[in-house]
Amino acid sequence: MLKYLPKKHFLNNKTILITGAGDGIGKRLAITYAQYGATVILLGKTVKKLEDVYDEIIKIDGPEPAIVPLDLKGATAKHYQDMANTIIDQFGHLDGLVHNASFVGHIGPFGQITEEDWNAVFQVNIHSQFLMTQALLPALKKSDKSSVIFTSSDLGIKGKAYWGPYSVSKFATQGMMQVLADEYENTNIRFNCINPGPTRTSLRAKAFPGEDPSKLKTPEKIMSCYLYLMDSDNNTDTGKTIDCQVK
Ligand code: NDP
Repeated sequence: MLKYLPKKHFLNNKTILITGAGDGIGKRLAITYAQYGATVILLGKTVKKLEDVYDEIIKIDGPEPAIVPLDLKGATAKHYQDMANTIIDQFGHLDGLVHNASFVGHIGPFGQITEEDWNAVFQVNIHSQFLMTQALLPALKKSDKSSVIFTSSDLGIKGKAYWGPYSVSKFATQGMMQVLADEYENTNIRFNCINPGPTRTSLRAKAFPGEDPSKLKTPEKIMSCYLYLMDSDNNTDTGKTIDCQVK
């Protein structure tokens, strides 16, 4: 696994938006970036979870975070545009964006996937990333160097039976990252992807109820990958997918 130990306050004065910041990997990521000095914008569905992350960050003397309660399933272009305007008004620019939230949806035979379920997975996992990235591009351009991180999966590299919409959406996520990386090559915005690999979270427990969670790595163990890709002063990677499982 990538081991990366950046300077203690390397994210001072940086503003980073994380989707799905109330739980699992996104929660740990928000606290970790705040520990390194970032002002984090916590976006998620359940307000109480976002407030708990907010409290944890204040407890460790991190910069005061912002909370954006938003269900990606129902959000429209106007929601993202309003959010982008608020970010520019409040912070002037955006230095980092982590597309982390995902919806697994139906796990089962392809023949049984309903159109409703297919659309719900694509709405949360793909359409929201398209609209949000597009709305936030002006704020990302205003930063000296900004980094956008998408979240992939093993199932976005090799399709797997019964994982229909989720697996296809993770291929599409890699595709969106590559299109953007190519289009914005040699600019101030980098686009990359992280494949966390099996990690002890509630999404994992729901998807693999028979698995022993104690045998899985915790979100803490993969924070190096996210720190590395957010360190725009020390790396110029773009268009890459980093696999957090690689030994
Ligand atoms: P969790 O379920 O633990 O956390 C996901 C977060 O996303 C939650 O805070 C959840 O909010 C939020 N979220 C889900 N749907 C929406 C929505 N419609 N609108 C807004 N927020 C939403 O997941 P993980 O931490 O495990 O997963 C994080 C990322 O890592 C995902 O992209 C996943 O695909 C990927 N991944 C995870 C692996 C693993 O083994 N854990 C393996 C490979 C990839 P709320 O709690 O309020 O519902």
